Amino acid sequence: MEQQLTDSKLALLYLATRELNSAFTVEDLIRRMLQATVRITGAVRGSFVLLNGEVDNARGWLLDGASVSVMEVQTTTFILREGLAGWVYRHHRPALISDTASDPRWASHDHQDSSIAAQSVIAVPVLENEILMGILTLSHTRKNYFSDTHLHLAASIAEQAATAILKIRLYQKEKRERLLADTIASFVQQLHRVPSLSKLLTIAFEHFARIISFDHGVIFLWEKDYLTVAGTYGTNPVTDMDTLSVELYQNDFARQLVLDGKSIRTADLQREESWFKDVSDCCTGHGWLGIPLIVGERQLGIATFASDAFDAFSAEDERAAMALGQQVAVAINDYRLWQRLQDIEKRYTSLFEESSDCLLIIRPDGEICDANRKACQIFRRPKDVIVCSHVALLDSILQKTLTRHAATLKPGKTITEEISIKDAYGQRVALEITARYIELNGERVIQWSGYDVTMKQQMAVMRQDLTNMIVHDLRGPTGTLMGAVQMLDMLIQDIADPDVRGELNEVISLANRSGQYLRDLIDSVLDLSKLEQGTLPLNIVPVPIRVLLDNVREQTFPQAEFKDITLTFSTDIDDAATINLDHSIIRRVLVNLVDNAIKYTPGGGHVSVSLIKTDDEYIFAVVDDGPGIAPDSQMRIFDKFSRATTDATIQGVGLGLAFCKLAVEAHNGQIWLESDVGQGSRFYFSIPGNLSPMETD
Ligand code: ADP
Repeated sequence: MEQQLTDSKLALLYLATRELNSAFTVEDLIRRMLQATVRITGAVRGSFVLLNGEVDNARGWLLDGASVSVMEVQTTTFILREGLAGWVYRHHRPALISDTASDPRWASHDHQDSSIAAQSVIAVPVLENEILMGILTLSHTRKNYFSDTHLHLAASIAEQAATAILKIRLYQKEKRERLLADTIASFVQQLHRVPSLSKLLTIAFEHFARIISFDHGVIFLWEKDYLTVAGTYGTNPVTDMDTLSVELYQNDFARQLVLDGKSIRTADLQREESWFKDVSDCCTGHGWLGIPLIVGERQLGIATFASDAFDAFSAEDERAAMALGQQVAVAINDYRLWQRLQDIEKRYTSLFEESSDCLLIIRPDGEICDANRKACQIFRRPKDVIVCSHVALLDSILQKTLTRHAATLKPGKTITEEISIKDAYGQRVALEITARYIELNGERVIQWSGYDVTMKQQMAVMRQDLTNMIVHDLRGPTGTLMGAVQMLDMLIQDIADPDVRGELNEVISLANRSGQYLRDLIDSVLDLSKLEQGTLPLNIVPVPIRVLLDNVREQTFPQAEFKDITLTFSTDIDDAATINLDHSIIRRVLVNLVDNAIKYTPGGGHVSVSLIKTDDEYIFAVVDDGPGIAPDSQMRIFDKFSRATTDATIQGVGLGLAFCKLAVEAHNGQIWLESDVGQGSRFYFSIPGNLSPMETD
């Protein structure tokens, strides 16, 4: 009989095993297991308690008749603490009770839902690798119903069930992992060019909803000491939720989330003391999960999920939400950085566009990458025509300038020069441009910032013309004045008293020299602008050296004498020899240099003028033992209106040396200076020996 029972039960057991293995969820498996075990053992009722860590986390199912129902949480906890299941839970051993009335392990509440009391019971642990996964309990209304065979059968089914639960859990874990990985991948993909933070958060919530189920969600971002709502999900009972700011309270959930960076999960939010005091009244959810949004060490905020169901979130939900939350935090951080970059770019663009300088960004090969509003105005072309076209299309001078800059410009350095170009209507535009290399999208390009100096140049020309006009008009009265002085000179000679005549002669000679000086100055100013424009015709003639030097001596000697300066002239050439040059101009060059030497050398000093001849040129030198000129001033004293002296008592306008330079260069010569402060100055200029005299009729 026992043997027959065993054989038929084994067949049933085989079928039960197959059925258990075809279950896909743990709940389904438990239902099938209870039904199979009750059928095989002939039990009246069966129950199963599924363990998951703490006793409080356990869940129970009861099969009574044909239906399987979920046990109340309190019942499950009770039987685990006080009932037979509790005994198995503590001992990890099977139990067979033939008569419940005489066994204290059976508590009256066990299978309390049943209308008929259990008389005999068996309970077996569901163990996998020593770990207790659940307890299977079977009961019958007859005493002594269960035998050892039943116990073995139940134990065999429990063993199969343990393996199947493990398999399902592994399968579900893997499925979850895959879902999480897919969700994260999809989230990252959808972030591409997300237009706003609120869109980003909507996408984030959509993805959270793929991995955890919740009814309401809020993302708070951390600003100063407040958490501000940045995005919500689901129907939210608070109307002005979107602008809500929450201060962190001591011992609050949010405080823990933000400060500790750890997630928090609770079965029933309403039973919690600590939640944002400002929003707790409004949040109707029960199951609640909060995760921090952190990037590296930076706390960005928190994401909270609420469910209308109790205990809605599992540890797995928490883990998955944390994993996606990390990606969401990175995305929020990236979005903010990107937005900051956008702001910087916008600011740069407006600075670039609104600059009063003309700005062009050009590749070294000539392609124009960008041009600002001023550039478009100056070239009188629209931006879409300028950008992407070649610089040569704007102007050939620009092309040449760019070629030169591309060859000589060094990174970190600038080149500034004035160029004259033509706009789209052929009008001349004078530009002072500064070129420098800049990085644009990882590429090294040239930036030209140009300043329109056309007006400035025109003004300078007008000023020059005006000056020339005035100076030119001084010529007439100066000539009259000198004529009158000469007349006086003749008249004086008739005065009989030699003393009076002598005194008057001196006065006349002073007036004569000053007149000559004034005439030279007028000529120099007028000649200077002609020399600049290259329009001064040189009157190259053979000039005897002696005549030239004597003229200079005559004109400068009185000042030297007046200042008690020793003025000497010397040459190693026969002074009857001649040099081809413009007599009036070179005389003025020499007079200027000697005048300066006398003017800047203190009384009692020495000034010497000398002339030597080399193979192919004549070199004049004017040497003094005055104060000398500092090196940084030496570079610019040949420029117009440039003065190096700080002595306000020494008069001058800074035109003399500019005239000398242009005059010497017009003769194809050179002028230079050697000087050390406190050691005097040595001015030299050369005149080529091969200048041809002008053809004269
Ligand atoms: P000006 O004498 O009218 O100032 P110049 O063009 O002749 O103008 O000279 C330019 C400047 O060069 C002078 O202001 C002076 O500072 C300096 N300079 C010229 N010659 C001498 C010199 N021999 N010794 C010292 N400084 C000189």
